[in-house]
Amino acid sequence: MLGQRRSLAAVEQEEWDLIVIGGGITGAGVLLEAARRGHRVLLLEQTDFAWGTSSRSSKMVHGGLRYIAQGDIRLTRHSLLERERLIRELPGLVERATYLFPLRKGVFPGRWPMKAVLWLYDFLAGIRDHRYLSREQVLQRVPDLKGDDLTGAMSYTDALTDDCRLVMRTLLEGCRHGGWVRNYTRVESTSRDGDRFRVQVKDRESGETATLNTHRVISATGAWADRLSGSDPRVRPLRGSHLFVDPAKLPVKDCLTVMHPDDGRPVFVFPWEGVTCVGTTDLDHPQDMDIEAAASHQEVDYLLKLVNTQFTEHPVSREDIYSTIAGVRPVIASGKGVDPSKERRDHAVWGDNGVVTVSGGKLTTFRLIALDALLAAGLLDETTHRREQKSDAPGFTPITDAPRAVESFMQADQTEPAFIQWILEQEAVVHLDDLMLRRTRLGLLNPAAGMAVLEPMKAAIQAQLQWDDQRWDQEVRRYLDIHQRYYGVPAAEPRKACG
Ligand SMILES: Cc1cc2nc3c(=O)[nH]c(=O)nc-3n(C[C@H](O)[C@H](O)[C@H](O)COP(=O)(O)OP(=O)(O)OC[C@H]3O[C@@H](n4cnc5c(N)ncnc54)[C@H](O)[C@@H]3O)c2cc1C
Repeated sequence: MLGQRRSLAAVEQEEWDLIVIGGGITGAGVLLEAARRGHRVLLLEQTDFAWGTSSRSSKMVHGGLRYIAQGDIRLTRHSLLERERLIRELPGLVERATYLFPLRKGVFPGRWPMKAVLWLYDFLAGIRDHRYLSREQVLQRVPDLKGDDLTGAMSYTDALTDDCRLVMRTLLEGCRHGGWVRNYTRVESTSRDGDRFRVQVKDRESGETATLNTHRVISATGAWADRLSGSDPRVRPLRGSHLFVDPAKLPVKDCLTVMHPDDGRPVFVFPWEGVTCVGTTDLDHPQDMDIEAAASHQEVDYLLKLVNTQFTEHPVSREDIYSTIAGVRPVIASGKGVDPSKERRDHAVWGDNGVVTVSGGKLTTFRLIALDALLAAGLLDETTHRREQKSDAPGFTPITDAPRAVESFMQADQTEPAFIQWILEQEAVVHLDDLMLRRTRLGLLNPAAGMAVLEPMKAAIQAQLQWDDQRWDQEVRRYLDIHQRYYGVPAAEPRKACG
């Protein structure tokens, strides 16, 4: 079990086989695959688990139709096989969902090209789930969709998850195999000492520092990877933002792909944990990576424009948005300065002076990315790597001694007392924002930062975390400040006065 945070002194005493830097899905995957093989492995996260990109994705466990469109059959096939594996192994956390691709008169791709692509997509996954829906059938399923030039839709399936809970579940599995994890612990630097490494770390809560000893280091620091890699910069940080909208104002039952009227980019509108999610954008992110990413007012305008031109019934305004979220995609740059949406989304593994860096890729393929990183770090040989890539052996074993929501989060009541108690006991919550924004999504899925749902949980949280009233007030202030700055709805730019 994850349990409470361990003291720095306890982790300093150990001689580690592997230290993993970064507590997103990539680091979690590396922890799990290393611990499963009996290595003594410690994962360090500078803020909270899944605080980086892995809590801010589009939540899709998918093959990615865009990869087929870009001719990347290998990435699509790998992603699809991993998707099927995760649906099988984590029912209730990774769930198959229906996707609709509306077809419009004179707009490419039409019915037959889409059918050919979806035939291949299903073939690569080993399923047959796609079909054509007539205009009437589409409007029955999505009555609010603009019908003017609609001719029908292609329906197919992919999967949805909660990215944070997927990270927590993977960390938990890694810990069940003997792995250790620590959040709010930043790696300041690494240095080589013969065949070992010294890893300088700082506890961001207490300010304590320590030097840890390990035989190998894997940096899974995503968009931050260039900082510790010691080699030339390779990551092009691209920001993508989403809106979480009142479902009464934008009701959808399926995941819709709609084309933005300004630039023809596909944007998803989909039901997620009781709200409607709209995204994403795709922009260069030159901002300081020490500051949490946030959606700009232009991105909110862009996504609202899509909604209000593609759906007819209820105009959606800023007041209907509960929250926003922005993530920075660690795209491995082609160096050609191409349009952000044209950069490849594959991962890369590279090394310098023995520190292996892994960045890029997708949530969906975290197991394969982890195997590549372990191969590069010399913790897996070529034969085992090849065998494991294709292996059907289960990656997760069911948890039977936890509240149902731990395994079936997508169908859970996130305020269920037993579940909250489990999180507080088992999931190393340090701040209130860890609980409201990542362990649960209550702060994103409710109006006014979810303060109304937080209030009834106050006594349980205070008792479990031993927070007196002063600490509680501090935590609430901190949480609301973070929410307003990085998860709120930026006001529209004031119109410039004429003359
Ligand atoms: C808008 C958007 C939508 C996406 N949608 C999808 C999707 O639908 N499906 C899909 O499969 N993929 C999707 N992706 C891609 C996917 O989210 C990412 O590839 C994945 O989350 C990256 O995980 P990671 O662990 O590599 O990085 P991160 O999750 O960013 O983790 C890296 C961690 O390293 C930590 N760190 C950095 N420096 C240090 C240090 N010095 N010491 C300790 N810790 C450190 C950071 O705090 C961070 O938590 C999307 C990405 C974006 C941006």
